[in-house]
Amino acid sequence: MKAIATITRTKEIMARHDLSFKKSLGQNFLIDVNILENIVSKAGVDSETVAIEIGPGIGALTEQLAKKAHHVYAFEIDGRLIDVLADTMSPYSNVTVTHEDILNVDLKQFIAEHVPSDKRVKVVANLPYYVTTPILMKLLTSDLPIESITVMMQKEVATRMAASPNTKDYGSLSIAVQYYTTSNVIMTVPKTCFMPQPNVDSAILQLNVRSEPYVDVIDEDLYFDIVQASFGQRRKTLRNNLKRVFSDLSAEELDQVFLASDIDSKRRGESLSLEEFAQLADAIHPFVR
Ligand code: SAM
Repeated sequence: MKAIATITRTKEIMARHDLSFKKSLGQNFLIDVNILENIVSKAGVDSETVAIEIGPGIGALTEQLAKKAHHVYAFEIDGRLIDVLADTMSPYSNVTVTHEDILNVDLKQFIAEHVPSDKRVKVVANLPYYVTTPILMKLLTSDLPIESITVMMQKEVATRMAASPNTKDYGSLSIAVQYYTTSNVIMTVPKTCFMPQPNVDSAILQLNVRSEPYVDVIDEDLYFDIVQASFGQRRKTLRNNLKRVFSDLSAEELDQVFLASDIDSKRRGESLSLEEFAQLADAIHPFVR
């Protein structure tokens, strides 16, 4: 049978199930098998891999993953697609679809319960664009035993991830990605590879999870609290942003934090490197924990 990721089969499946695309859920389905095969191969999915897919849609990528992976666990928010997937995935015994918003899933517990310890876990997905950043932040900060995240996203978001300090794209997402992973763009994908076509071009990004985070910090949660606070109001100085969030600290204590970290309190968050955020987080640690 023809692959799902073709114009004819996608149209046929949609018609048979009387389905329409839900724009609000970021439903742009892939209709190019070569691109899917490339994603699966670049992700290194093999019989020792358990793949976690976010948003299987009608199963275009799920099918290609199922051909290579030990097992595929796919999470789909749209209830209408659960019956469709039961139909399109019926040839594959190694696919489990869960009807759930990925943001509500405790993935750490899910992996512990479902994945044998001798298997590698990889996330592979064509992400819904409206919720790419929260999904990636969740994947990165939930202490998951995953090897890599290979995902399609809007080209602009891919640029934000690799951004350096003092650029408009640099923010919490860039820092989380660089802190936990090494990243590279596998390829850019034109709009024409999707049905319906989105307004923007896309890119496939591979994030390989580092064995140790990029910088060493006393308290990882505090590190990301500081990052979040520092970008809270981008035009404000570090001092004002930290004062707002760490309101229990006195002015003198804040002075001591900046002195100990050797960072000028008048700087803006967007100018700090990952290492400098670590200096700041470690300096504030004795005062807040
Ligand atoms: N994987 C399919 C493909 O490549 O053709 C579909 C990708 S489409 C860009 C995104 C999919 O994610 C849609 O099926 C959508 O319903 C689903 N989705 C959107 N938000 C979600 C969420 N919070 N949790 C799980 N799935 C979600």
